[in-house]
Amino acid sequence: MMAELPATSYEPIVTFDDGHVSNYTYALPALEASGRSAFFFITAGWTGVRPDYMDKTQLRALHTAGHGIGAHGWTHTLLTQCSAADLRHELVDARSALEDAIGAPVTSLSLPGGRSNAAVIEACHEAGYTTVWTSVPGAVKSSSEATVGRFNILAGHSDAFLQRLLDPASGELARAARVGRWKAMAQRVMGDAAYARLWALLNRKEGDATDPGAQRVDGAL
Ligand SMILES: [Zn+2]
Repeated sequence: MMAELPATSYEPIVTFDDGHVSNYTYALPALEASGRSAFFFITAGWTGVRPDYMDKTQLRALHTAGHGIGAHGWTHTLLTQCSAADLRHELVDARSALEDAIGAPVTSLSLPGGRSNAAVIEACHEAGYTTVWTSVPGAVKSSSEATVGRFNILAGHSDAFLQRLLDPASGELARAARVGRWKAMAQRVMGDAAYARLWALLNRKEGDATDPGAQRVDGAL
């Protein structure tokens, strides 16, 4: 997974965040039909509790079918807004609950809302996560990267766009990575709440809600 990528194309890794039950009912059969495996990042405190989210039996079935299970916090709170005690709950308790659910080690985590800073990354490593996935687009280049980049695929993305994304010569992923880094910087400078208001303003016409940076309780990221 963390190996060097071939120079001519990107080998995609499919990931899902939050643990919605549609991951089990729709994504699992589709993955099996295409012979692919994926990573599922689970908001641990929603497991078996929140309506429409997977329970422990479904998580275990995903794991048994060969898919990766990672953590996505306990309450989906942005980790950059957590106290030290809250961080332990979001990271350590989530990991141990998920390990209990699937009966195997959990060493990957995706950041709720994609938010992180140096203290969050350090806390993730202290909590036993060896791989931290963000929402900033980018290819995995080496195991020395602090976080693994991802690209949020939306219903409106065309097949042609996705083909370009996987072709380094098109520059599409590099372009997305530049925009993603700009957004991440704006989030850090403005703070999460002000950034969310700006995003809502800029997207008023579309009604929005697709940006991984927007602060949403129910978000896909
Ligand atoms: Zn999420």
